[in-house]
Amino acid sequence: MSEYIPPPKGWRVFNGELVPDPTLWGYMHRRQMVRGACYTRDCRRNYNLDVELLLRRGYAHVSMKEIQRQLLCHMPGGCRMTFRDEKEGSGLPLSVLAANREVRILFRCGGCRWEKSVTPAQAIAQLVAAKTGTSSTLHTELTSKTTKPCPKCAAANWTCEVRWPTAPNDKTYGQRRLEDLAAERGRR
Ligand SMILES: [Zn+2]
Ligand SMILES: [Zn+2]
Repeated sequence: MSEYIPPPKGWRVFNGELVPDPTLWGYMHRRQMVRGACYTRDCRRNYNLDVELLLRRGYAHVSMKEIQRQLLCHMPGGCRMTFRDEKEGSGLPLSVLAANREVRILFRCGGCRWEKSVTPAQAIAQLVAAKTGTSSTLHTELTSKTTKPCPKCAAANWTCEVRWPTAPNDKTYGQRRLEDLAAERGRR
């Protein structure tokens, strides 16, 4: 049995799928920046995520969505501040995924739901052969860089997810969270 490798910092495994940690903590570990801008006449704010300040104020485990909600101003008629996650930190380079031999990338056809699972090394080889990417291509860029049509329905509309092996008997984050909540309720 091969040894379990936890997901890289800033990432979680949810139902076997590698997903970004949505909290400030996750953004910090992925080194992913967020910018916001509001063009409403009386607001006109530009926002750059200040990780240090928010960590000092206890926001480490607050989700970025909630932080963004709190950043909206209270002007009558509402704030139009929109946020943009920077590309850096939005995905993992395929070379990083390839370091775990158990990782698989699952392509799913948007037309007929046909699925194909490949190793990160195979995904890299395909990108290199098609001259659309390299080992430093992020996994989140795979769908836009895969132009091959589906062999079943000829659609070229792929979604892809990274399957990260969980430790034997390891509960998913969701299960753990539900159990924590149940235990908390029991204590009251
Ligand atoms: Zn505003
Ligand atoms: Zn198809």
